Amino acid sequence: MTTTNKIALVTGGSRGLGKNMALQLAQKGTDIIITYNSNKTAADEVVAAVQQLGRKAAALQLNTGDIKSFDAFCTALSSTLQSTFNASRFDFLINNAGIGMHALIADTSEEVFDELNNIHFKGVFFLTQKTLPLMNDGGRIINLSSGLARFSMPGFAAYGAMKAGIETLTRYMAKELGSRGIAANVVAPGAIETDFGGGRVRDNADMNKMVASITALGRAGVPDDIGGVVAFLCSEEGRWVNGQRIEVSGGMNL
Ligand code: NDP
Repeated sequence: MTTTNKIALVTGGSRGLGKNMALQLAQKGTDIIITYNSNKTAADEVVAAVQQLGRKAAALQLNTGDIKSFDAFCTALSSTLQSTFNASRFDFLINNAGIGMHALIADTSEEVFDELNNIHFKGVFFLTQKTLPLMNDGGRIINLSSGLARFSMPGFAAYGAMKAGIETLTRYMAKELGSRGIAANVVAPGAIETDFGGGRVRDNADMNKMVASITALGRAGVPDDIGGVVAFLCSEEGRWVNGQRIEVSGGMNL
């Protein structure tokens, strides 16, 4: 079965950056499947907004840290592709879902480390592995890293190290999947005003000011700064970008 429109799967598409990616991809003519962890209402609103833009959309529940659930997720994904999109495969995998956790090395428990690792590293590895059979050749993978993989701030050791791991993993994906025409790249945002980490960058005036002061363009980022870069990497114009880390931070800590 074939489909004329490209289809993107955006994890954590119910809020923040993933929501913006879904909307900007839809504006460029891409059909959208988002996942959410617990916030079904927000996910349904994103689906409605994508449909308003004239594109097909669906939302699926997925805890990206629960690796054992991925087989069942792929079954649900497959049947949604058939029922909503009249397709058997999708084109773009955006590994975006994530949580913010602030803890010094001295205070990071093994439980917190494992949760971060499951969501930010192990989950990305195995969700990509499990969904690859459902991805069209010629597709794209975009993995989300962070400015914190390049520069260091106290409290983000485990998170930053896992995001650094994602950057290496992405180069391996690009290498191994090139034979299928699949390009893999990293988008590494700077500090962006979302709910992430308790919404500190958006809601804490001192934090927001501090971020602006270390950013060449003089302000904290907003979701709309990010989604278009992901949409570009999934576009025909972005087809020759492969195995790259693109930092989208307004020039943080240059
Ligand atoms: P938000 O907190 O705004 O949104 C998080 C999204 O991820 C929601 O859709 C949420 O779903 C989903 N999610 C959270 N936990 C899980 C889970 N266990 N399984 C599946 N989905 C989950 O975060 P952002 O949009 O800001 O962050 C998106 C990505 O960008 C993350 O990978 C983050 O590390 C990265 N990033 C963010 C930066 C920032 O400053 N905001 C900076 C650099 C990188 P639900 O609504 O159901 O809870």
